[in-house]
Amino acid sequence: MPSQNKSICPECQGKLTRKEITHDVRFHGQLHTFYEVPARVCDSCGAVYLDAAVLKSMEMAFKKHYQPQEYQKVPMFSYSQLAV
Ligand SMILES: [Zn+2]
Repeated sequence: MPSQNKSICPECQGKLTRKEITHDVRFHGQLHTFYEVPARVCDSCGAVYLDAAVLKSMEMAFKKHYQPQEYQKVPMFSYSQLAV
């Protein structure tokens, strides 16, 4: 049974709602995006909380070299090239 305080945001005491989110993780400096990730999101401050089991699953996907569903190109900017 889920404990009562698990649905309350520790930051602002707001209500946490279960949602599927997109979560970016860096493994060894490389960006990996996981989507359809089950999370609890605060209705008030927007803080996102992931269960330890969810974090572990994502780490396993990396360690076991799971094939990603897709690749996306990410725009990269050099700050030194920005016109200030
Ligand atoms: Zn909150």
